[in-house]
Amino acid sequence: MTLHAVRGPKQTVVIVGGGLSGLLCALQVRKLCPEARVLVIERSLRRGPGLAYGEFASGHVLNVPSHRLATGSEPSFRDWLAANADRYELAQALAEANGRIDDVFAPRSAFGDFLEETAQRSIQSNVFDWIQAEAIGFLPPPRRGVVLVDGTELDAAAVILATGNESPAPLGMESLERSQRHIANPWASGALDKIAPDDDVILVGTGLTAVDVTLALRRAGHTASITAVSRRGLLPRKHKLCPPSKPFIMDGGPASPAELLVRVRREVTRAMEAGASWQGVIDTIRPVARDIWQSWTDAHKRSFLRHLRSWWDVYRHRMAPRIADGLSALLAEGQLNVVAGRITAAAEEGPLMALDVSERGGVRRRLHAHHVINCTGPATDVRALPSPIITDGLDHGYIRRDPLRLGIETSACAAIAEDGVASDWLFAIGPLTRPEFWETTAVPEILAQGRALAERLSAADTTRGYGI
Ligand SMILES: Cc1cc2nc3c(=O)[nH]c(=O)nc-3n(C[C@H](O)[C@H](O)[C@H](O)COP(=O)(O)OP(=O)(O)OC[C@H]3O[C@@H](n4cnc5c(N)ncnc54)[C@H](O)[C@@H]3O)c2cc1C
Repeated sequence: MTLHAVRGPKQTVVIVGGGLSGLLCALQVRKLCPEARVLVIERSLRRGPGLAYGEFASGHVLNVPSHRLATGSEPSFRDWLAANADRYELAQALAEANGRIDDVFAPRSAFGDFLEETAQRSIQSNVFDWIQAEAIGFLPPPRRGVVLVDGTELDAAAVILATGNESPAPLGMESLERSQRHIANPWASGALDKIAPDDDVILVGTGLTAVDVTLALRRAGHTASITAVSRRGLLPRKHKLCPPSKPFIMDGGPASPAELLVRVRREVTRAMEAGASWQGVIDTIRPVARDIWQSWTDAHKRSFLRHLRSWWDVYRHRMAPRIADGLSALLAEGQLNVVAGRITAAAEEGPLMALDVSERGGVRRRLHAHHVINCTGPATDVRALPSPIITDGLDHGYIRRDPLRLGIETSACAAIAEDGVASDWLFAIGPLTRPEFWETTAVPEILAQGRALAERLSAADTTRGYGI
């Protein structure tokens, strides 16, 4: 594909979504395309925190230490946190990190505040512009750009979708979904407010969202039972601050998920025998995860998603030590229970919701609770998302869903259109690009994507008189 530079001052790069991905991308594009006008469109009031570090972040803890949140901006999060430590309750976090600010698992809201301040500073110094609105569709060709919810049309040389994490996908059980006892989106404002401290709760999912919800309930004084159900019943593992292990996957990644499993197990055994930790081994896979993923066929990827994904998720997306300890205490006290099984039916029984669960091993049981909360994490099937701009892009063929339903198809972040051609004006970064990169939700990967995309937009090519 021919690339064209975004150079002229009249050329606008529109970024849809002002969470972590949109913000980091805006900073990178502006750095590498200094004359371009960068315009971020964000529907919510806060600039920068997005879903993960915004309102829902309150009371939660980042699942990586502060030095791993290098956003490429000045000051770094680590330095910002050191300067603003008195704004947050950091005593326990600092004790856990032996007093080292680098190793602190900070409150998620602190990172949200940092992102917001970074955004505000950049807007004030005209690094980029910001519009608070929802982008709901694309301009019809030959124009390029987006339409906002109030009908405003914004022409652009390039549009970058950074729409991030969507609410969880429906559980596919009508009787459950139409019940007042079902909470479809735990991230919605006030979603957990109607739960009384003595209401029994069932969480569908046992990943980090379930952990967040459990701890949010506990903080709100919840005393009744919380039962978390997922097919394998796996909870995220505990983080450990440890030196990184020596990389063991360099040239020639594992040819299949089965080979990956064998190699990881071998390496973990070796590490543990040498007195090191498995966490260090898993962390060495991160930088090469994208290459491994891209070298696999669709059949391999499908097999990974079916057999290994839930294991990968719990070893890769770990809990901060004090969060893991808090959860262990709830398990030991019996307030939290984990059930491995498949929910086969749901029905209201008086004031309760009854869920039939077919446990691994074949045992069937009926669980009862006052509330059932969907904790399955962000939805990824773009055809089912309640996002007007994504639906418009799909309907007009500017983007297409990947066969594994993980997001949209891209080639080096360029959206692949319905006809299979990579776009020269429409791009995506962050969670939407999971089909291409797999690892695409954490700061290092998002920053790398933003940089690479900014480099592409700045690539010198004067063969066309406009945009990229
Ligand atoms: C609850 C949660 C906790 C997490 N915690 C961690 C963590 O501790 N550590 C870690 O490394 N990763 C964490 N992650 C991973 C997280 O996905 C990434 O770190 C990152 O926040 C993704 O940023 P994003 O900007 O792509 O998405 P989002 O944060 O979802 O931001 C997308 C933004 O786009 C806006 N938007 C969407 N559509 C439109 C539209 N049409 N018009 C205008 N605006 C629009 C939304 O309002 C939103 O603000 C967490 C994820 C979740 C969901």
